[in-house]
Amino acid sequence: MVHSENPYILLTPGPLSTSASVKAVMLRDWCTWDDDYNQGVVQKVRKKLVSLATQADGYTSVLMQGSGTFCVESVIGSVIPRQGKILVLANGAYGDRFARIVRTLGINMTVHSSGELGPTDLDRASKELEADSDITHIGMIHGETTTGMLNPIGEIGALANEYGKVFIVDAMSTFGGVPMDLDSLHIDYLISSANKCIQGVPGFGFILARQEELEKTDGFARSHSLDLFDQWRTMELGNGKWRFTSPTHTVRAFAQALLELDAEGGVEKRYQRYCENHRILVEGMERLGFECVLPHEHQSPIITGFRNPSHEAFEFLRFYNLLKERGFVIYPGKVTDIDSFRIGTIGNVFPNDFERLIQAVEESMYWRA
Ligand SMILES: *Cc1c(COP(=O)(O)O)cnc(C)c1O
Repeated sequence: MVHSENPYILLTPGPLSTSASVKAVMLRDWCTWDDDYNQGVVQKVRKKLVSLATQADGYTSVLMQGSGTFCVESVIGSVIPRQGKILVLANGAYGDRFARIVRTLGINMTVHSSGELGPTDLDRASKELEADSDITHIGMIHGETTTGMLNPIGEIGALANEYGKVFIVDAMSTFGGVPMDLDSLHIDYLISSANKCIQGVPGFGFILARQEELEKTDGFARSHSLDLFDQWRTMELGNGKWRFTSPTHTVRAFAQALLELDAEGGVEKRYQRYCENHRILVEGMERLGFECVLPHEHQSPIITGFRNPSHEAFEFLRFYNLLKERGFVIYPGKVTDIDSFRIGTIGNVFPNDFERLIQAVEESMYWRA
């Protein structure tokens, strides 16, 4: 695979490696009130996102300036009424960040933390919902990028449905790369961003919402610039008009990335490529003696944590630089109690890139010499 102009590929989701054609479409300027942009780019993107999310009726999408976290904050701050309360299920840095946003906004909350290596505790969640009728919303992370753990949104969605709670999912690192149907998962709000599995460049994120729920939230927002309902209404009434300056080049690149997702064969095909990238990575690393942080059954094909080799000469930065010289940039670890590093398998990266990576890792194991 040719990665034009890039001295290395990014195995850091995200930003991640994007195709030359995604980058190329950014070489023109767009007017933010003209139909060429609003109808021709923004509305098409919004519609396409809904069709990727579900075949069911009743869903809509909103694009929001900023990185993924801004979109998470937009949803939390805009959809929970003043007297509402959220149950947050956390098992990593992104779950903790979700809870921190809730706390910062002064919203009533109960947090269940199952630890960075612990799967979501379904039984505990169900008991909480039974015991505390003040809870109005449930929030959780799908792919916890701290470890690469895939959380059971289907099971929690079923609980949300059973108890009549609004269900918010941060699917930042999985949407577009892991097949999912919002309607059958009972998801009311799903958040993701341009620079993850859709393989666009950074600058904005998006929210997929059950329209009936979103329509109830007029006036709930605790922030003006992140007001989800107002952003949605402006886009609906203005045919793709954003309230404030839109990241035009990034949105245009994202439209191209969506076409390339279709050209690849859609989400299922992309998922299979990521799984193949991940399989080659894990088999190769294990053959070289590395150990995964997570048991295989909880691991997503998005990003994988590996324990640092126990050899005392191992230093992450030296290893990192040797890999970088060979054309690969990896990610430091984020797990608190385990010395580890992470390797992402999403983006415009392919099985043969991972075969080359394994060779580069073998050459970079200076501590074995
Ligand atoms: C990437 C990511 C985010 C958003 O991070 P930003 O740095 O704000 O783009 C949020 N949640 C998860 C699970 C992520 O992987």
